Amino acid sequence: MKLHTINTGFFKLDGGAMFGVVPKTIWQHINPPDEHNLCTWAMRCLLVETANRLVLIDTGIGNKQSDKFFSYYQPHGEITLQQSLEKAGFSVSDITDVLITHLHFDHVGGAVVNTPSGLAPAFPNAVYWSNKAHWQWAMQPNEREKASFLKENFVPLLEHDRVQWLEDNQWLLPDELYVRFVYGHTEAMMIPHIVYGGNQTLVYMADLIASAGHVRLPYVMAYDVRPLQTLQEKKDFLYKAAAQNHILFFEHDRSIECARVQTTERGGVEVSQTFTLQELA
Ligand SMILES: [Zn+2]
Repeated sequence: MKLHTINTGFFKLDGGAMFGVVPKTIWQHINPPDEHNLCTWAMRCLLVETANRLVLIDTGIGNKQSDKFFSYYQPHGEITLQQSLEKAGFSVSDITDVLITHLHFDHVGGAVVNTPSGLAPAFPNAVYWSNKAHWQWAMQPNEREKASFLKENFVPLLEHDRVQWLEDNQWLLPDELYVRFVYGHTEAMMIPHIVYGGNQTLVYMADLIASAGHVRLPYVMAYDVRPLQTLQEKKDFLYKAAAQNHILFFEHDRSIECARVQTTERGGVEVSQTFTLQELA
């Protein structure tokens, strides 16, 4: 198995919303905001290459929304999803599977593209993986989360009959990639676990732990629909990750790709080591 970081650029989100109850006097040193209090976040996807499968995890924000929409989130950066794939030696038609952790626009925006004949799957030969509970939740969103679920990002996938459903703890690649469901950030977000190099586990953190700055337990995003459940899910995950030396892969950290964690004397968890995927290989 080979792993490739697939950068799709950066965007901006309000620092207060991203750090929840943590005061700005503290978080401004972790991710310095601009004059509008917006912080820069990566949209870092992961490509899992095996002998006969090419699995893309998440797809970034895409390019089909309005100028007004993009003026709020200010996507920027040198490289697009397609360019990153090409840099890794692949094209969109090579992708066999697209695993969408959840249907928020910064994760699924690149899954569907505008074509002369309307909205269509961006990866013409891929199966798109979601789960029934989350799909249903996104189709009937609550008012607080509604702005994150843009139907044009995912309804065309179902219309083109390209979606298949995963269950909690199901292996997508036998012995190599399985998903765990978590419920604090949104209903049934999928956290991919990749068995790497025979005995290591690399975990794609999605929005459970969006950045290295979110490893400490009280750092829970204000966006989360069930913050106390996120707290419990973080604890369960992080104590295990520390004990088993898991590799955390961050989707949204503006600079840090990977980290390992350790427990502290006071019962907390902290980052012990940071590195890139390339350094790991
Ligand atoms: Zn999200």
